[in-house]
Amino acid sequence: MALHVRGVLLPDDEVVDLWLVGDRVTRTPVVGADTISDRGFVLPGLVDAHCHIGIAQGSRPIGGLDEARALAAVDRDAGVLAIRDAGSPYSYGELDDDPDVPRLARAGQHVAPVRRYLRDIGVEVVAADVAGAVATQAKAGNGWVKLVGDWIDREVGDLSPAWDVGTLAAAVQAAHDAGVRMTAHCFAEESVAALVAAGIDCVEHGTGLTADGIVEMASRGTALVPTMINIETFEAIAAAADDRFPTYAAHMRRLRAAFPSIVGAAVDAGVPVYVGSDAGGGIDHGMAAAEMLMLHDKAGMSADAVLAAGSWGAREWLGFPGLVEGGLADLVVYDADPRRHLDVLHNPKRIVLRGRVVL
Ligand SMILES: [Zn+2]
Repeated sequence: MALHVRGVLLPDDEVVDLWLVGDRVTRTPVVGADTISDRGFVLPGLVDAHCHIGIAQGSRPIGGLDEARALAAVDRDAGVLAIRDAGSPYSYGELDDDPDVPRLARAGQHVAPVRRYLRDIGVEVVAADVAGAVATQAKAGNGWVKLVGDWIDREVGDLSPAWDVGTLAAAVQAAHDAGVRMTAHCFAEESVAALVAAGIDCVEHGTGLTADGIVEMASRGTALVPTMINIETFEAIAAAADDRFPTYAAHMRRLRAAFPSIVGAAVDAGVPVYVGSDAGGGIDHGMAAAEMLMLHDKAGMSADAVLAAGSWGAREWLGFPGLVEGGLADLVVYDADPRRHLDVLHNPKRIVLRGRVVL
């Protein structure tokens, strides 16, 4: 049966009537539709643009599709109706059209340097094989490839780039030749500068961004997914490394301390910033709203900008049409205006995914 929702649609800020027919939205009245909400503020759902439903607690690969479904359900029930999976060691393409799973924009498996990333998570290759691995992982995903741009080098005792500049250029080219976008994990300064210069489409974390790098991202339209929740964990990472890798520990603390203002500068410069919790492994699912509040409180993003970054703007970036005529039948209703009370995002009143009532 068709569903009917009336409420203040954001960002348009007008009271509208929406009908959901199957997995589509229309403003043309449908006789006999079931009215499931007649007040409140309506968004096309939240977006977690850095999320791992293929990585279980303890940073190990999930054991099967049901585990991915269960992790995705935690996000969905918190109002997240689209996920960009930033790397999965377990291939779960079968879930792309699963009625219970949020829309999925997926990278394949992380392309990582040999023995310099989380164990059993990445496909580990030498530099000469990166472009080939990118082409393979482009097929495993559905629009994205994820590269590990830097990690601790235990011999150096600090973060160091995973790849040389020529390898990065070949990797980006291989992704674009395969028709997908590339993103990369970057904590340090050198790696992010090289990746932006190589024409990467998005930067994950980006703690090493400089003022020049921000200007270049803005001019190229390179996106940033800051994962503020993840960066908060740098203190614990540093504390665990103090004895064996003091230089690395100090570096991580410096990156963390400087980070909120880097994100604020990126927003001010016009870099497209999106919401990503980095759930999976060490971070719980269902944290997109918490990430949005951090972007507001710590990085100084306006509530309107945060909502775009974690909802309609991110959906557009990922290619999931929102609540327009013929758009996808995903919506979340809140009983207060999230532009005035961002914390209402923690309490969705209605959730509809793929035309089916979740809450
Ligand atoms: Zn991640």
